[in-house]
Amino acid sequence: MELEFFGAAGEVTGSCHILHVGGHKLLLDCGMIQGSRKTEQRNADPFPFSTSDIDAVVLSHAHIDHSGRLPLLAKRGYSGPIYTHNASRDLCHILLQDSARLGERDAELQNRKRERKGLSPVKPLYTVADAEAALTLIEGSHYDDRREILPGVSIRFRDAGHIMGSSIVEMWVKEGSLERKIVFSGDLGQYDTPVLKDPTPIEEADLVLMESTYGDRDHRDRELTFQEIGEIIQEARHNRGNILIPAFAVGRSQELLYLFGKHFDEWGLERWQIFLDSPMAIEASRVYWDYPHLYDEEATKLRRDLDQMPLLPNLRLSQATEESMQINKIRSGAIVIAGSGMCNGGRIIHHLKHNLWRKECQVIIVGYQAQGSLGRRLVEGSKDVRIYGETVRVGARIRTVGGLSAHGDREDLANWYRGFENRPPVCLVHGEISAAESFKHKLETECGATARLTQPGLKLDLEKLPQLEH
Ligand code: ZN
Repeated sequence: MELEFFGAAGEVTGSCHILHVGGHKLLLDCGMIQGSRKTEQRNADPFPFSTSDIDAVVLSHAHIDHSGRLPLLAKRGYSGPIYTHNASRDLCHILLQDSARLGERDAELQNRKRERKGLSPVKPLYTVADAEAALTLIEGSHYDDRREILPGVSIRFRDAGHIMGSSIVEMWVKEGSLERKIVFSGDLGQYDTPVLKDPTPIEEADLVLMESTYGDRDHRDRELTFQEIGEIIQEARHNRGNILIPAFAVGRSQELLYLFGKHFDEWGLERWQIFLDSPMAIEASRVYWDYPHLYDEEATKLRRDLDQMPLLPNLRLSQATEESMQINKIRSGAIVIAGSGMCNGGRIIHHLKHNLWRKECQVIIVGYQAQGSLGRRLVEGSKDVRIYGETVRVGARIRTVGGLSAHGDREDLANWYRGFENRPPVCLVHGEISAAESFKHKLETECGATARLTQPGLKLDLEKLPQLEH
């Protein structure tokens, strides 16, 4: 019995691990590596395992850095089941097809240039047909139902409070007389986040695979965050500028709209035109609407009241490209939510090109920005950035609002760990090395845990872990 780490080990994106048990191989996530163009080329590399050896896949949630290479897995011969939560299955339909379309379009554009240079054409990482093949393999479940997926392997999804359908995965595995319970945290949400419930506490495990994205920092208090957003909106209005919010289509976009509805009067939003400029976010919002039983209490109440009260009367959903281009003509009074969340593609790039150089505008960063992404360069204070081959001066104010992150901060992560009564050992994944190291220190000094960092290729023998104390 072994656990092997491949991706999101020593970095944040590309989540991918394998559990070896009783001659079976269970793949945990199959995510896309995200960041600079060069980094992303690694997605096309051969998998460090044979796809025909994989018996089952367990997917923690729909975000592309966890699900994005499932179509490639199918393209390269995997035809077994992919287990995930029902809402993740629905969101994967949107995200994976979109990812495939983006890849196809990107290859097409490159090939036009390559043809002119007499170079041979490149192929997309995968096609829409490959994505559809992967989607047919998905088997959705509810939270809290334990099911056997392979001989000696049972799993149960628990609400991780990160995006709709996001799961902590409990795995009970058996090989001969050896039994282990492994818990994979997936991505953990913040406590008291809008719309979603808190991460579910788990009481017992022999080993925990735990994310550490923000293991080295504390998010700002939520109330202060809301105050800060109010101030940003006021400042932009005073300066007669626009506000751009790069946001993941799934998760952040829906929660931002929820917050805009809730703080509509307080933030003076009636004076603004609000655009959700993302067909994918619009579709994902419908999935959010379809799972009301997963909302927290407050969102449930707001939704109940919605029949009487129109939420965000000045919200425009922008589907067609022409509609998106129209937004670029607006000089002031527009709040634009568009993807991608790390500004490494999508419609937000066009809005940045038109607004970034203008000092009266504001860019609100609400999510994690991977190294090498345009979003990261903005956060780090670059004075000039390249957009579509042009140098654009950064005149707009870049405001990072950590309190809206979909990931818990180090206190949230430690809180969740404290739910384990037996203090199991922890393997840290899904974090840059500095964040993981800092969180390891916190776990060991404040939570009574032993923790270790992971790197690609690391193999752990699950027989040698300390026994559970009963
Ligand atoms: Zn995620």
